[in-house]
Amino acid sequence: MRIVQALAPVVDLVFPPRCPLCGEGIGGQTGLCAACWGELAIPGEPACVTCGRPFGDGVPEGAICAPCLESPPRHDGIAAATLYNDASRKLVLSLKHGNRISLAPMMAGLMAARLTSVDAGYIVVPVPLHRWRLWKRGYNQAAELARAIARRTGAGLAVDALVRRKATPSLGGLGKKARKRALSGAIGVNRRWAARLKGAQVVLVDDVLTSGATSDACVSALKRAGAQKVVVACFARVLDEALDLA
Ligand SMILES: [Zn+2]
Ligand SMILES: [Zn+2]
Repeated sequence: MRIVQALAPVVDLVFPPRCPLCGEGIGGQTGLCAACWGELAIPGEPACVTCGRPFGDGVPEGAICAPCLESPPRHDGIAAATLYNDASRKLVLSLKHGNRISLAPMMAGLMAARLTSVDAGYIVVPVPLHRWRLWKRGYNQAAELARAIARRTGAGLAVDALVRRKATPSLGGLGKKARKRALSGAIGVNRRWAARLKGAQVVLVDDVLTSGATSDACVSALKRAGAQKVVVACFARVLDEALDLA
């Protein structure tokens, strides 16, 4: 028996398991209550074949969404566990600012369910945090998700494959061009991983995918380093890009 399992009854006694969203008592430390599970919006079909953006009904199979048609993305697909709404927002904020790292395995489980083709042949790479932010927060929430996804899928883990060379301002509220400018040169590949990334299949992990500007910069850096395939995985995908997520 693993020590975590051995301790579980004690932990449950001292901290009775509660749903992290509503505080309702639940059966285990790592889930949500049934009502809150129902609040999460899981992206459905039909969806854009390029980026997985869900369409309304009546769109033929194989269709591509307008943003992908306008500028064909460099990534090789987006796997979103949920669509951004009140419930997923609360989970993301608890993971990010609430010190609830314990939520990572559950959230990563939902992400891994969308990554069925990912196996030991892949490398999981988190979107990097600038070291000042890392220092202030103590952890990179994307790295915690990446770690749990690697564990679940058997893929390799490269927590520091990408580095932020400069701190970028919050991108919320910036236009497309301004975002690109703010990110230019901000993200690069760690030299130590350069050889491993050549020809690699990569899962790029972030908690929230908003405009895609940050993930695009990461995908570009990985492809420049020779990655053959980069799939973007996020816990919550924002479809209304006007939302300000600062
Ligand atoms: Zn609940
Ligand atoms: Zn699309």
